[in-house]
Amino acid sequence: MDKASWPGATARGKREREMGLENGGGNRGDRDRGDAALEAVGVWVFDLDNTLYPASCDLFSLIERRMGAFIAERFGLSPEEARRRQKRFFREHGTTLRGLMVEHAVEPDEFLAYVHAIDLAALAPDPALGRALAALPGRKLVFTNASRDHAERVMARLGVAGQFEAIHDIADAGYRPKPDPATYAGFLARHGVDPARACMLDDMACNLVPAARLGMTTAWIRGDSAWGRPTADHLPHIHHVIDDLPGWLAKRAAPEGGEE
Ligand SMILES: [Mg+2]
Repeated sequence: MDKASWPGATARGKREREMGLENGGGNRGDRDRGDAALEAVGVWVFDLDNTLYPASCDLFSLIERRMGAFIAERFGLSPEEARRRQKRFFREHGTTLRGLMVEHAVEPDEFLAYVHAIDLAALAPDPALGRALAALPGRKLVFTNASRDHAERVMARLGVAGQFEAIHDIADAGYRPKPDPATYAGFLARHGVDPARACMLDDMACNLVPAARLGMTTAWIRGDSAWGRPTADHLPHIHHVIDDLPGWLAKRAAPEGGEE
């Protein structure tokens, strides 16, 4: 994966410039959350999909296709009807899975196994990310709305599986996806994380809001998707903006271990 393929390496939208996210270093929320806050971070909390790898890999379209197929099969719908149903679940419940569980009592593990049965060929090993994580001081955790199996497959494929202390997946979250605030409280308690010393990284700006409210430092993995980008309400909760994750992490490497 070359750096040019990371989201945000491309031209940025007018709306984003207007929002003050144009300099790549942060926004108004950075006033109190500069590098000093990052230096105090002892726990790094990473989202998985479109965070540890760039959205340009487009794994989500493969997962989305499987979601559509699951819904079409389950309810006897055409692909178009299934897609509309899926979009509605996502809109009204935060995730397709949540909609299926709440409205149709679908068994979550069956759905998760089905939708994550995708080919990871589009995902290339990322040795730069592996080096940056190895040199990053502090604990490293994965906090994902996906399943543990999917997270383990993705991390193995990227070559970073050994870099993380734990995975907190959607089952650990009681199938209540981020940004449900209760899920963050459960995450912090289970892993003994002090939010004041933690930094959360996610490509979905909305997922950073509860983290910031709990006192965590936040970093948005910039992307072009309409659902991932911050609204004006999210902006005060985004402290840093990342275009190149391995490069950004490498700047936080321990001084004695930072040489290439
Ligand atoms: Mg994500």
